[in-house]
Amino acid sequence: MARDLRPKCKLCRRAGMKLFLKGIRCVTEKCAVAKRPTPPGMQKRQRSKPSYYALQLREKQKAKSVYGLLERQFRRFFEIAHKSEGATGQILIQELERRLDNIVFRSLFALSRSQARQFVRHGFIFIDNRRVDIPSFLVKKDQVIELRIGQKMNDLIKENIQISAKEKSVPEWLSVDNQNHKITIKRLPTKDDITIPMQEQLIVELYSK
Ligand code: SF4
Repeated sequence: MARDLRPKCKLCRRAGMKLFLKGIRCVTEKCAVAKRPTPPGMQKRQRSKPSYYALQLREKQKAKSVYGLLERQFRRFFEIAHKSEGATGQILIQELERRLDNIVFRSLFALSRSQARQFVRHGFIFIDNRRVDIPSFLVKKDQVIELRIGQKMNDLIKENIQISAKEKSVPEWLSVDNQNHKITIKRLPTKDDITIPMQEQLIVELYSK
């Protein structure tokens, strides 16, 4: 499957904020945004105010970077949200948050969404007792996700939880059993549940042109 292979720290610097794309490095002083909070590339004189189109584009790029999606994949999520009933932007966020790789990450079992994606791809994840190895799988309310892993992985997950808990907490819409590595979807996520600020309306406007 195609993946976004662009340098991750540059994506954060372009967005002007930490997007937490690299796992443990993101919570250390080595973080590029902490060291150099300027856009990548040669520092040209910036236009005093970015155009509205630039703001829309930046917001879309940020959302794509956060969830590790390419244009075609992101566009597919937008189309699903657009065809659904309700506010497109809110549904778009909900769909992105419901991705299986995102849920494994938000439960603190993985240090980054890309590590969570690896766990899914390697077949460690079961939903309602059935193995699911598709990172983009959209999880529904009341479903139970379980990591079935050996001792070596057990230690890794324990370490991941300890590191992640220093910076993040499990969102309210998830119930996590750290001992048994189980996650229950208590309710569907809303915009208030996301940790990285996102102006989803700008993305909707961009795609609606
Ligand atoms: Fe790099 Fe992580 Fe810092 Fe982003 S948050 S700049 S990915 S270290």
